[in-house]
Amino acid sequence: QQASSPSASASASASAAHAVVVPAVPAADVATDSGDALPIAEKRDEILKAVEENQVVILMGETGSGKTTQVPIYLHHAGYTSKGVIAITQPRRVAAITVAHRVAQELSSQVGDLVGYSVRFEDVTSAATKIRFATDGFLLRDCVRDGDFSRYSVLILDEAHERTLATDMLFGLVKRLLVAGKRPQLRVIVMSATLDPSKYGGFFRSAGVVPLFGGARGRGAGGVGCVRIVRIPGRQHPVEIFHTPAAEEDYVEAASITVMQLHVEQPPGDILVFLPGQDDIEALQQLLEDKRVKLDRLRRHPSPSDPLPPSWQSSSLDMLICPIYAALPVDQQVEAFRPTPPHTRKVVLATNIAETSITLPGIRYVVDSGKVKLTTFNPRTGVEMLLRQDVSKAAAMQRSGRAGREAPGQAYRLFTEADSQGLADQTPPEITRADLAQIVLQMRAYGISNEESFPFLDAPKEGALDKAVKMLQDLGALDNRGLTDLGHRLSGLPVVPMHGRLLLDSMEFGCLEHMLSIVALLSTENVWHHTLTSERKADKERRKRVSTNFRRLAHPDGDHLTLLKAYHRWNEVSDKVGFCKEHGINHHALVRATKIREQLQGLLVRLLGDVDMAAHTQAAVGKDEQWVSIKQCLAKAFFLNAAKLMPPTRKYRTEYGRQEVHVHPTSVLVERQSLPQWVVYNDFFQTGVGKKLYIKTVTAVEGEWLVQFAPAKFTAAYVKD
Ligand code: ADP
Ligand code: MG
Repeated sequence: QQASSPSASASASASAAHAVVVPAVPAADVATDSGDALPIAEKRDEILKAVEENQVVILMGETGSGKTTQVPIYLHHAGYTSKGVIAITQPRRVAAITVAHRVAQELSSQVGDLVGYSVRFEDVTSAATKIRFATDGFLLRDCVRDGDFSRYSVLILDEAHERTLATDMLFGLVKRLLVAGKRPQLRVIVMSATLDPSKYGGFFRSAGVVPLFGGARGRGAGGVGCVRIVRIPGRQHPVEIFHTPAAEEDYVEAASITVMQLHVEQPPGDILVFLPGQDDIEALQQLLEDKRVKLDRLRRHPSPSDPLPPSWQSSSLDMLICPIYAALPVDQQVEAFRPTPPHTRKVVLATNIAETSITLPGIRYVVDSGKVKLTTFNPRTGVEMLLRQDVSKAAAMQRSGRAGREAPGQAYRLFTEADSQGLADQTPPEITRADLAQIVLQMRAYGISNEESFPFLDAPKEGALDKAVKMLQDLGALDNRGLTDLGHRLSGLPVVPMHGRLLLDSMEFGCLEHMLSIVALLSTENVWHHTLTSERKADKERRKRVSTNFRRLAHPDGDHLTLLKAYHRWNEVSDKVGFCKEHGINHHALVRATKIREQLQGLLVRLLGDVDMAAHTQAAVGKDEQWVSIKQCLAKAFFLNAAKLMPPTRKYRTEYGRQEVHVHPTSVLVERQSLPQWVVYNDFFQTGVGKKLYIKTVTAVEGEWLVQFAPAKFTAAYVKD
């Protein structure tokens, strides 16, 4: 569809909607690699003074102004690292890792030395680490052990505007700590890219904290215990924004057309494309690679039957495509940060990670799908889903702004101007959208028995806390007296409570080794390539071969078992990459799963004392007893995710929430003539198109097992009927 042609809309300037994001600041020099050239540099002394005089400092500044990389360095040079560790939280693991690398480099150090990072399943720190970048989730889990943050001299809660669940929880915990007056020397810095600091300021100043925040303590207007707001001046160049004249149905296709057109028609400058998730990124990468190859060929061998459009002929830039998303291996993520080679245009395909948490140099053009993937929890049904949704106005603004960091830029939005008017102003905070079970579990482990009284920046939805408590009770993590032994153990595992139960229950079923593998595999993303659009577009022959191979590998009783089978086979074969290619498996996911498995095993040992893996793993790989014990363990740990077949249809009804669902087409179960009467599932979601509800990663269980292992929920009469 021509609607996506950016230059068409751009040249028809009368109809093209465009606006300027932020007025240009004159004489802004192009950012260099030196921290001194960053906008934050002129505020260095003010920031250090504010931190010295106030316990809480709120630092506002545009993305790319230098907050994340420079503030820890300033504090380090000002001596804060001699009093303890500086922690900087990031909502995303990619950001924590890349920023740690950057800061280590600026301080001429190695990651894991002075500067380190800690993310789920990966802790690259040492006794020498004084600047620790961590995901907010990691720090939140960590503080169960060290509730006073005693090892830290400064806590920096970065990307506060993202309002992730974990950052919000840290806000509350820090406030409680400050109110209690336990750590008068601790400094807290809240950093954010948006322009409304009053919310955070008000939160820390609000009622309960009067004794501590009441005003001057002999230091003029400041004083320890006060809140200070520091703003970093913006240095943003104007960005022209273009919208598509008509709505785009396929934003991946539209993005590919837009990128190619920009590539061949516009002056040099890198392109940043925002997409909701990995699958779309991989699909677009494939489309662009194809087009790039074709362009190359036509440039070298012009064909009269398939001529290059005249405007394309003048361009001779090469195209370098760099994806960046959470599940991408780190060595590939850093590609996006490398300087663009000469005569080349870099095209970065990113999720909303590139919105505010990382800054890529050289971007002059932004292409925005207008979509983002968000978790959404419905407390009525107790179901959390990952849904593709429209971005907020604030997010769209941030995305467009990425084009104007170094010079005037252009942003191409793959949605209409009318649609942009209809966007929500802000993305609702995650705490109002997410499943709170894991958070409540952690709060209890932390010693907070009454969640209702917790100082939330924004309160969870009505009923969401009750639902979480109820779920934890059903799981056996909570009882009338509070956290149970099981609950304590679950809180020490960095996985969702149900996966934690799989691990803990597996010992009794003699399948610990196998369950470690399954939980590790469930903790990685996209083990199967066939779920990706790019793979569906692969050539027919290959697709057929891969799907035949996959069928041979599949276990008819379910996806958990199939995952395990694939993992075992992968461990056995010598040509692992080849094996993955021939079976439609994501090799990186299995490598990652292996690392996660090791971590989980180590955590279990720490939690339970020495665990004799062999003793808890009776049935060998491939034996029938093995499959039975795994299925029984799944039935016991996942009874809350049980679903019952609704004959004569092939639909199921979930026990929790009573939803009618389809088994996702990627499940091995859909191949079966007759479907099992009972299944348990790992994921529950709704697709954008058609709004059909699906369960994914599904395995057959016996109704009797549910009665046996969850008698409070299932009666014999009920499961038979
Ligand atoms: P903020 O946190 O305010 O958004 P950052 O401190 O992340 O800003 O980035 C400041 C500047 O440092 C960026 O504009 C960019 O020029 C540079 N920078 C940050 N990370 C990297 C990196 N990994 N590689 C190259 N340059 C980087
Ligand atoms: Mg930052």
